[in-house]
Order: sequence, then structure tokens, then C-alpha cells
Amino acid sequence: MPLYGEYEVAVLGGGPAGIAAAVAAARAGRRTLLIERYGFLGGMGTAAGVTNFCGLHGNVHGKMHRLVQGIASELLARIDRLGGLNAPHLVLGKIFAQAYDTAAYKIAADDLLAAHKVDVLFHALGAGVVMNDGMRINALMVETKGGRRAVRANIFIDCSGDGDLAAWAGAPFELGDAAGHTLYPSMMFRINGVDPDKAGEAWRTIPQLMEEAERKGTHKFPRKGAIVRPQRHAQEWRVNFTQLARADGSAINGVEPEDLTRGEIDGRRQAVEAFNFLRTVPGFENSYIIDLPPQLGIRETRRVVGGYQLTGEDVLACASFEDSIGVNGWPIEAHIAGDVIFRFPPIPESRGYNELPYRMLVPEKTENLLVAGRCASMTQEGQSAARVSGACFVMGEAAGLAAATALSGNTLPREIAIDKLQQALKEQGAFIGRDQAVPVGV
Ligand SMILES: Cc1cc2nc3c(=O)[nH]c(=O)nc-3n(C[C@H](O)[C@H](O)[C@H](O)COP(=O)(O)OP(=O)(O)OC[C@H]3O[C@@H](n4cnc5c(N)ncnc54)[C@H](O)[C@@H]3O)c2cc1C
Repeated sequence: MPLYGEYEVAVLGGGPAGIAAAVAAARAGRRTLLIERYGFLGGMGTAAGVTNFCGLHGNVHGKMHRLVQGIASELLARIDRLGGLNAPHLVLGKIFAQAYDTAAYKIAADDLLAAHKVDVLFHALGAGVVMNDGMRINALMVETKGGRRAVRANIFIDCSGDGDLAAWAGAPFELGDAAGHTLYPSMMFRINGVDPDKAGEAWRTIPQLMEEAERKGTHKFPRKGAIVRPQRHAQEWRVNFTQLARADGSAINGVEPEDLTRGEIDGRRQAVEAFNFLRTVPGFENSYIIDLPPQLGIRETRRVVGGYQLTGEDVLACASFEDSIGVNGWPIEAHIAGDVIFRFPPIPESRGYNELPYRMLVPEKTENLLVAGRCASMTQEGQSAARVSGACFVMGEAAGLAAATALSGNTLPREIAIDKLQQALKEQGAFIGRDQAVPVGV
């Protein structure tokens, strides 16, 4: 098999976790390759049309703070310079999120990786591994338009969101709850041509209008808790309205090809039905769909089991960990059949965020592998919170820097000195919790 290249660090997947991992490793002086199956970065944030950062902020004793800093701040500044970043907005009256433009995100991410001298390989689908003695990954195989290629690296970081690389390498993982059911996926879409004055704060009234429509029998919706919010330009809104299930009502499984096919087609159908309803809402009469994203939005698939699994209790109790590498301020957000259930740590009594332990990134068994992002080591409830972009940036940055730290010390990722990693993260502007003062401002 032709060798594409030999690297010190190879990152599979260019979502928030992969972007941060690649930048962190390259900035620490390591020859780094990021491999992505699409021709652009951003992961679900662009490929699935999410267009909104959650988890960058925390509600700390009733006051909003931007908790996720470091590489995420650099990316946000670049998106902002391109005119593609909204001011943060309040969700459920309790927590901030921040919308962005997908074109700006893609360009900002390209520029960020180029500035830090990350090599990028687009249009390359990771497809398997060659192992050494069952414990070390020798090479990652990628399918490209030029044929199959091998990528060799000292350390691999799985940021595929689906734990593809970890699964091929034989790392243990979980998929869904005890019955194998994952959080439900959604097909996002964006509309333009909204009359912002007439629409006003329609995100407050749309859920009631949906209930009325269902009562009258004019429409039937796949779930409650629809999110319809304006983007940077007030006539453009994002719509998070759909929920994709199999024939038996269980969630579409994002690593099953037949499920994915059905989910894409049903997702687009549901989007059209949602749009037909939205056109009955005042201010939306002349709106039109401007974007159905490249793929169905997948919230959860494989969760690779590492040295610690972040739990729902950790999120609700704002847990602390000695090996913290950053924090998560997003609540539990469970996309269950027909509904979305949010659960927050007590406000204002609690500090509103949990720490994320380094052990979440270190899979059992495979020696030269780290896992970051939504496929890191979490229970299903823990993942329903820490899967959002903020925590994925945090995990990615820590994984990239941990890989560099392991290479410098000629040791395995699971054996690095945690205090050195924590110090390096802090020096790069990250907030890791512990004894650090909470960053001020939003
Ligand atoms: C419908 C929906 C709405 C959401 N809303 C929000 C929100 O409002 N705010 C928020 O912050 N989060 C939201 N999320 C969650 C968030 O977008 C994701 O959890 C987050 O993007 C995960 O980041 P990640 O880097 O771990 O993985 P991903 O974003 O999934 O990125 C993984 C990347 O790896 C690539 N990849 C995967 N497999 C391979 C392979 N084999 N070979 C090559 N490349 C591969 C993918 O193409 C992708 O670019 C939402 C998710 C969904 C589905």
C-alpha cells in the first residue's frame, strides 16, 4: 500500500475536537496531519449545519462566563473577523450559546490550521488500521480519490466523533443505552427571507403554535422542543426541528449504513414538513430554505471506554477531578423519543460547570491512541452534555498537547505527567478549573 506520509501526530476528523487537537500538537512543534473525509473542517458544526456553539459558557452562580478559552478563542476571533459570529444569546433563560456562519467557520478553521502549520488531507476517509502486536497502531488506512494510502504516526488521535479509529484498533466502546439506543439525530436546515420585525421573538411562540397545530390536527411533529433562532443576519434563521427514527421508533444508528440512508431521506422530508408549518408563522410567510446540510446531524454513536467515564451525576454535581484538562458548562441535553430534556446543575447555588478528567481521553489497551470529542469516554448521560462544541474544543486541545507531551518525554500518553500537561494548557490560555480564577466576561 502506498505510504501517504509519516507524522508524529495524526488526527482523524476535523470537527471541533480535531481542529483543536491538530493545532495544539502542531503548535507544540510536532509534525501533524489532520485527515478529514469532507473538503472542509467544522464537523457536525458545518457538515450537519449546527451553526451554533454551545458549551463555551457556563452559568456560574447565576452569572454568565466564557469558560472555554485557548484554541477555541483563536477560532472564534477568526470567525468574528470574517463577520460570521453572533453575540451570545440566552437559551432557556439559563445559559449562553453563540451562533455563527458556516462559511466563515470553514474559512477561519482553514486559516487557523495553516497558521499553525498543520498538514491537512481532505477527501480522505479513514477505513482501517494496521496494528503492531495488537497494542500499537502502526498505520491508518485512508481511501482517497487516488486510491488507498497508509498514514503512519507515532501517536494517533481519534476525533472522528464515531470512534472509528479506536474501534478498528480494538479499543472497547459502548454504543447507546443498555438496549443499544442512542440519542436521536436531527436534520438541521436554514431558511432565509424571514421578516425580522414581524417574526420578533418567534422562538418563544413557535413551541405554543406547534402545540395548537397538533391539537387542531393540521400538523404532526416528530418532537417537542423545536429550536428556531436567527443567525447573524436577522432574515436568516436556523431550524432544529426534526428527529430521525427507524421503523420501530428507536433512534437512527449513526454507524449503520442502512440507518444513515433512511435518516438522510426522512430528514429532508421532515425538514420540508417543518418548513411548511413555519410558513404559517407570522414573519415567515415569504421565507425559503437556503441550506439543507451535507449530512444528517449525528449526536451520539460509539463512546470509547477510557480510564474514566464522565457521568450525568458529574455534570449535575459540577464534579472536580485532579487530572482536569478543562471544563464543561453545558447541561444534560437528552434527545429522547419525541422530546428534548434539559437538566441543569442548581442555579445559582452551583458553580455551573464540571471539570473534564484527562482519563476520558485515554482508551484502555491501545497504547499510542488518544480519543477526543463526542466519542470520548462518557456514559450516555455524560455525553449528552459534554458532546457539544465547547467541551469538544477542550478535549481536542488537551489531547493534542498530551500527544506532544508524550513525544517529548518519550513515554505513552497514559503515562505523561498530568501537572506538566495542566501547566502547558494554562500557559496557552486554557481554563482548566482547579485553582484557576474563573475567566471574566462573555
Ligand atoms: C442536530 C445537532 C444539533 C446540535 N446542536 C449543537 C449546538 O447547537 N451547539 C453545539 O455546540 N453542539 C451542537 N451539537 C453537537 C455538536 O455539533 C457535536 O457533538 C460536535 O460537533 C462534536 O464534535 P467532534 O469534533 O467530537 O465530532 P464531529 O463534529 O462529529 O466531527 C467529526 C469529524 O470527523 C470526520 N470523520 C468522521 N469519520 C471519519 C472517517 N472515518 N474518516 C475521515 N473523517 C471522518 C467527520 O466528517 C467530521 O468532520 C449538535 C449536534 C447535532 C447532531
